[in-house]
Amino acid sequence: MRRESNEALGAGLLFRSPGFFRISDSGLWIYALGVQMKNGDIVRNLLAWFARNARVLPWRRTRDPYAIWVSEVMLQQTQVKTVLPYWRRWMRTLPNLEALAGARPQKLHKLWEGLGYYTRVRNLQRAALIIRERHGGRFPRDFDQVLALPGIGRYPAGAICSIAFDQPKPILDGNVMRVLTRLYGIPGNPRARATNARLWQLAEALVRQAAEAGARGLISLHASRLARRVSRPCSRLNQSLMELGAVICTPRLPRCPECPVARCCIAYAQGRVDQLPALGPRARVTPRRFVAFVVTRGDRYLVRQRPAGGVNAHLWEFPNIELAPADSDLERAARQVLGVRPARLEPLATINHSITRYRITLEAYRVAVIRAGRVTTAGGRWLSRSRLRQLALASAHKQILRCLRALTCRSASGSGR
Ligand code: SF4
Repeated sequence: MRRESNEALGAGLLFRSPGFFRISDSGLWIYALGVQMKNGDIVRNLLAWFARNARVLPWRRTRDPYAIWVSEVMLQQTQVKTVLPYWRRWMRTLPNLEALAGARPQKLHKLWEGLGYYTRVRNLQRAALIIRERHGGRFPRDFDQVLALPGIGRYPAGAICSIAFDQPKPILDGNVMRVLTRLYGIPGNPRARATNARLWQLAEALVRQAAEAGARGLISLHASRLARRVSRPCSRLNQSLMELGAVICTPRLPRCPECPVARCCIAYAQGRVDQLPALGPRARVTPRRFVAFVVTRGDRYLVRQRPAGGVNAHLWEFPNIELAPADSDLERAARQVLGVRPARLEPLATINHSITRYRITLEAYRVAVIRAGRVTTAGGRWLSRSRLRQLALASAHKQILRCLRALTCRSASGSGR
């Protein structure tokens, strides 16, 4: 039954067949009307659901485009629960564009430490400087001007303009892509050009429909408590799509029976939910192995800053080297990195983490050397632990620092007994 009603609305045919564009004018009109009705249902149901179920998030309590921009950049590739403390700390430390534009890079990296993809934080500051120079320090409202800022692609520009300014601009991130491919039963790979363009069109159709209905006062939500016109429909519609993808239409085990648009969903009707989106084969996971050497001079540790242009650029780390999985000649590796033969190598920690498709194992060793003064320090500095805590370290190396602190605490309490 559900399948028939969906197809009666025309959406299934529309997206499965290019025949949509071959039918007669009257047929075209009926299909267009069907899709519009379907979209009308979707928009109304999403807005009603979002009004009742939206998670309370601090960046949803503001219309400040700066605060929304920061949240959107942090949320790229990162979960809400991880972002929350970062966003709060950032907004306390750099509450506005002016503060961001004037911040020292070291401070920015420290605020971003652990979030990864550090180009994002450098782009934030570059964009803030441009806004100060070209827009008098006010966040631009014009979509093309927002899109022209460094690090802001079509998705964040749409998110900022719709959420902060309620403009009918579409958004399409991973969550929204998943919702739309399932809802409209789109079989192609959503990252392929044609399918992606179609998804953007659908996202645009929905947000425009929300804007038009909002402008005409046509959105009144069903439940009596919510029977009122929806303010800021574009902002809410886009956020509802993101929210649905985050909490209901999840990659695995989506909660279709609880979904507000289940009645319109083609994938659900056709039992294809687990086949969509058709993302194609995953990138092959590649294991990599690194060895880090912790060498001290008095109470200072040798650390280096990563070069610009690579992964974790400008972050600090203990001297390290990549080794083949079976390479057991750690003494040679230490000599290569430090320029001296180690007197002793003592295992400190093994840290596993991932960067994109790489599964990285970092083995950390404490190194005793006869003369620390002879260690190669090219590009490196000897810094105390308290000084290191003020710098931004690559995540895995921050864990090494924690291990060192734990060891010091243990030996201090042991010696006190
Ligand atoms: S019915 Fe299921 S698959 Fe369809 S949009 Fe809702 S959660 Fe996603």
